Formats: sequence, C-alpha cells, structure tokens
Amino acid sequence: MLSYRHAFHAGNHADILKHALLTLALQSLQKKDKPYTLVDTHAGAGLYVLDDERAEKTGETKEGIVHLLDVAAAASESGLSGAWKDDVPASLKPYLELCRGYAAQGKYPGSPEIMARNLRSQDKLMLIELHNTEIDVLRVNMKKSIHDGRLGIHHRNAFEAVDALLPPDPRRGLLLMDPSYEVDSDWTNTADALVKTHRRWPVGVLCLWYPLLQHRESEIALLKASLREAAAATPSSFLCAELLVDSPEREAGLYGSGMMVINPPWHLDEQLKEMLPYLSRVLTESGEAAGPGKGSWSVELEAV
Ligand code: SAM
Repeated sequence: MLSYRHAFHAGNHADILKHALLTLALQSLQKKDKPYTLVDTHAGAGLYVLDDERAEKTGETKEGIVHLLDVAAAASESGLSGAWKDDVPASLKPYLELCRGYAAQGKYPGSPEIMARNLRSQDKLMLIELHNTEIDVLRVNMKKSIHDGRLGIHHRNAFEAVDALLPPDPRRGLLLMDPSYEVDSDWTNTADALVKTHRRWPVGVLCLWYPLLQHRESEIALLKASLREAAAATPSSFLCAELLVDSPEREAGLYGSGMMVINPPWHLDEQLKEMLPYLSRVLTESGEAAGPGKGSWSVELEAV
C-alpha cells in the first residue's frame, strides 16, 4: 500500500528544482503554436496549501518556497507582490511569478497545476496517479482549472500506464516522471519505463526527478546509465542537473535531488547554470550549518 503524501514536502528544495525546470521547459514548448501533450505519470494532489499541518510538521515548505519568495522579493515590497531583487536570475523569474500568484492565496502549485497553467486550447494533459485518496484530491483540484476534453485523469499504475497510453496524440510534448521511490522496485521500474517510452516516443521531452540519498548511490548510477544509453541510441541529447542543499556525507535523508532530461529544450542547460548557483545559496542559507559539498550544484549536457 502506498503511504507517501506529497503535502508533507510540497514546495521544498526538490520541488523548487523540479518545478522551476518544468516551467522553463514548458515555456520552450510554447515558442511554437503546434499542439503538444503533457504527461504527469506521478501526479500527486495537484495543488497544496502552504500552511497545511503536514507541511508545518516537516517545515519543508517554509524552508523552501516560502523562504525563497521572501528572499527574492525586493526589500521595499512584501513577499507577495512587486519587483524581484537585482540578483534574482532571469531564468528563475517565471517560476517565482507563478508561485507568488498562488502564495497570495495560501497555495503552492504541484506539477499538474503547473502543466494546466501552460495548456493552450490546442494542447492535451494526461495525469496518472495510483494512490486511492490522492486521486480524489487531484480530481477535485484539477476540476478548478480545466473543464473540457483536454484533460485525462487516470487512476492506475504509472509503470504500466505509460505502455498503454503512450505515445500520445499530439506527438509533440513532455512527460514528467516523479516517483515517490517508496518501494525498491521503483528504481528499476522507472529506468525500464523511461527507456521503453523513449523508444516508442522518441520526440518526447522526458523529465525524471530523483532523490540524492547516500544509500541509493548505486541505484542512481544505474538509472543515469540506462537513460544516457537510451538517449545515445537514437541519438538524443541528455541533460542531468543536481541541486545539493546538504552534505552528501549525510548518512540518512535527502541531501538534494536531480533531474535527468532526454531531449532537453534548447538552452535549458544555460538557463539552469544561471539559476542553480542562486538556488543553492538561498536554499542552503535557511538550513543548518554547512558541511562538505553542501550548497553545490551541477549541470551536465550531452548534446547531439
Ligand atoms: N509530481 C507531483 C508534483 O511535483 O507536484 C508530486 C508527486 S509525488 C512525488 C509522487 C506521487 O506518485 C504520489 O502521489 C504517489 O501516490 C504516486 N505514486 C506512487 N507510486 C505510483 C505508481 N506506481 N503509479 C502512479 N502513481 C504513483
């Protein structure tokens, strides 16, 4: 049985990396009018409340997006409106603008909500979620954003759903895979599903989020090798970006996270190289004392 609930972690450093990158990738897709399909294989609840008691319990929302909006807002303004400070990278602003709008209503947008906000009349959105309670919350939340046939919500296991539902129509598009890694098999299922999906949908922009955990080093290396090899075979470009907010020597718990992207949009690597130094500085500031490797970041691109 699944027990992970994203409300404990919404808007934390991992969401900031994932959602800021997602926002940039969606902006790139919008440079052409041609329709696209967006797929979120592990959708979660779609929309979160900043002062939800689960978020308050972990403190992750406060140390994440609430802190970031506060630091980035120009000194003379409140955190919920006005200009950004001069040192805020241009590539981070679209995500900050989006979050500020939701924060004004006490909310944080999950990946389904971010995708819904970037859906034009010609596009489609496919959301997949397995959790029996989370799927109901997702349905209620998404009804507030989209009321027509552009949206499909699927209550099923993502790893078999991608086989059944992809490649999508329209073919142009983006998939986000954001597993909870609750069960050991998530690691191999994720690699298998993305390798197969890339083979069947070679033009899709495939984005994967993964946690940085010391005891999962070999799983992360295997995942990276599988995706890199799948990209090289077509050939397609492959990008890997990591944001560390703690020391890798931390024995238990998340010290950061990463995103792997097959077919990354043009210039995404440069936008991340501009954004990540700022994020690593601001998001580490709010944490405990620095350790080795804490507050670092990386962006690797293998371009074809
Ligand atoms: N993508 C969301 C966002 O960024 O707002 C957060 C998703 S959360 C990290 C992962 C979600 O995957 C959880 O809601 C969990 O219930 C769901 N999940 C776990 N295993 C799944 C599976 N095999 N298929 C579909 N959903 C699954």
